[in-house]
Amino acid sequence: MAFPNGIADFRSDTVTQPTDAMRAAMASAEVGDDVYGEDPTINALEEEVAGLLGKESAVFTPSGTMANQLALGTHTNPGDEVICVETAHVRNYEHGGASANFGLAFRTVPSPNGEMSVAEIEAAVAGTSYGYPRVGLLAWENTHNVSGGTVVATDTLRRGSAYGHSIGLRVHIDGARLWNAIVASGVAPAEIVAPADSVMFCFSKGLGAPVGSILVGPEDFIREARWTRARLGGGMRQAGVLAAAARVALDERDRIVDDHANAKALATGLAQRYPEAVDAAAVVTNMVIVRESGLPWPADRLIAELEAAGVRTAQIVPGVIRFVTHRNVDAQDVNRVLAVADAIS
Ligand SMILES: *Cc1c(COP(=O)(O)O)cnc(C)c1O
Repeated sequence: MAFPNGIADFRSDTVTQPTDAMRAAMASAEVGDDVYGEDPTINALEEEVAGLLGKESAVFTPSGTMANQLALGTHTNPGDEVICVETAHVRNYEHGGASANFGLAFRTVPSPNGEMSVAEIEAAVAGTSYGYPRVGLLAWENTHNVSGGTVVATDTLRRGSAYGHSIGLRVHIDGARLWNAIVASGVAPAEIVAPADSVMFCFSKGLGAPVGSILVGPEDFIREARWTRARLGGGMRQAGVLAAAARVALDERDRIVDDHANAKALATGLAQRYPEAVDAAAVVTNMVIVRESGLPWPADRLIAELEAAGVRTAQIVPGVIRFVTHRNVDAQDVNRVLAVADAIS
C-alpha cells in the first residue's frame, strides 16, 4: 500500500504511516502516568515483550538510540570499552552518546557483515592488560544495517557471546530490526536473543509503528536502565498511546515476510540488469544495497530519475544507495524502480 501522494519511499522503513488499526488502538488506549508506573498499556507491552524474548523485564523507550544508550550505560562503567563491528550503529550513529553520556570508548572488529568470530573478538580484546581500558561489553547488531540488513548467524552470535561471557563481558544485541532477523532466520525469538544479557528492538523500523523501542533484560538491569532513562529525560507520561500502536505493529509482525519478498524481487531484478551493482544472494531481509561502482551511470543520476518517477531512495554513504522495503511499498513499487532502471539510457 503506497502513500496517498503516490510516492514510493524506499529511503527507510522509518517513513511508514500508522495504519488505521494503529490509529484506532491509539485512540482507545487505556493510559496512565508511566513515570509512576501506572500506564496499563505500557506495562502490558513490556511484560508481553519480555515474555516473548524469554527475559525477565523490559522498558519502553522513545527511540532505539535511547534503548541502546541505556544498555551501554547500564552494563559498563565510565572508562570502559565496548567491542562491536566498526560500522555499528552504537558507535557511528548515536551522535557520540556512548562517550558523551557514559564515558565509553570502542574497540572494533572490521567486519563486512556484522559478524564477529571468537578469534576476532579475542584479537580485539588482546592487549587489554594493565594500563589499558577495561573492556566491559560486547555489542552485536542484528540485523546489521550498513551491510544491508544481513542476519548474524545464530551460531556465530552464540559462540561469540559465550566467549565474551567467559572473559567477564556483558553482551547486548542492538536489534533495531530484530524481527526481520527472526522472520528471515526462522529461529525462535527467545532463542535468537538467548546468548545475550540484553536486547533492544525498535517498533518504529521493520515493524512499522510510528514511535518507540524497547530494552529487554534481567530485572535488576532493567530497574537500573529505567532510572537512567529518567535521567536522560526519557520518562514519558501517558505514553500508552504510543505503546498501543507498537502493540498492533508487533501483533502484525508476520507481514514482514512480504517486505523480505519485495526486497528480494528488487535485488534480483536489479542484479539481472547490473550484476556488479547488486548482490541479490546477500539480500535476506528488507534492504537492498546498490553500489555505484557497478552502475553505468552515477548514483545521483539514478536517484534523480527515480525521484522524477515518484520513487524515493538515497545514498547511505557516498557511492552506496540503499532501498528499504516496508509496509508502505509493494511489488508494484518494485516494478516502478525496475522500469526507471530500464528507461535510463
Ligand atoms: C535505527 C537504528 C537504531 C536507533 O533507532 P532510533 O529509533 O532511530 O533511535 C539503532 N540501531 C540500528 C541498527 C538502527 O538501524
